Amino acid sequence: MLDTEFFRRWMAATAAAVDREAGRLTDLDAAIGDADHGSNMQRGFNAVSAVLEKESPETPGALLTLAGRQLISTVGGASGPLYGTLLRCTGKALGTESEVTESQFAEAFGTGVEAVAQLGGAKTGDKTMLDALLPAVQALGTSAGAARDAARAGALATVPLRARKGRASYLGERSIGHQDPGATSAALLVTALAEVAESNGGGDA
Ligand code: ADP
Ligand code: MG
Repeated sequence: MLDTEFFRRWMAATAAAVDREAGRLTDLDAAIGDADHGSNMQRGFNAVSAVLEKESPETPGALLTLAGRQLISTVGGASGPLYGTLLRCTGKALGTESEVTESQFAEAFGTGVEAVAQLGGAKTGDKTMLDALLPAVQALGTSAGAARDAARAGALATVPLRARKGRASYLGERSIGHQDPGATSAALLVTALAEVAESNGGGDA
């Protein structure tokens, strides 16, 4: 079972990974965007850490919903509403249970990723965060470790793609040959999940 503390640790591990990798995310965004993805993610997840410290949501659903709302209200770039929607809709789908099963979470995360696709209108192969998130959802039924591997592979696989959504799409062909920053940060989010799941005993999230 996954309790509220599990999700608190997931958000903390994501914030730490984003801090560590902010420079790289910004460099990737400098190549095909406007060089703010690292700072957007840092601002967002620092704010998530702060609000989770201040308020004490009592259920997994409430915690992720709060984190998502915080991202939406603090991040100006495209990634704020998209990641915010991911966490908020995952949280809503978890309902009000004080603990959830791994498979309930896998299903709720799928709902969250679906909401990102709805909001941004992107699909597989458009060179966005969805290229890491969609394979992660598929693999999450197996384990969090499998989801991490799928998300990382998905992020790497954005390199040869031409961007069809977001700022990078303005570059057309020139977006080819660069890894998508949002797919890269999505892999960090899923890697943080696997880290926490593994320390929770087993990789089954
Ligand atoms: P901005 O593009 O506003 O500067 P960021 O740099 O923070 O925002 O985030 C850029 C990332 O957001 C991209 O690398 C891509 O993965 C993701 N993204 C942009 N538009 C979309 C969309 N319509 N659907 C899904 N992801 C998107
Ligand atoms: Mg940007």
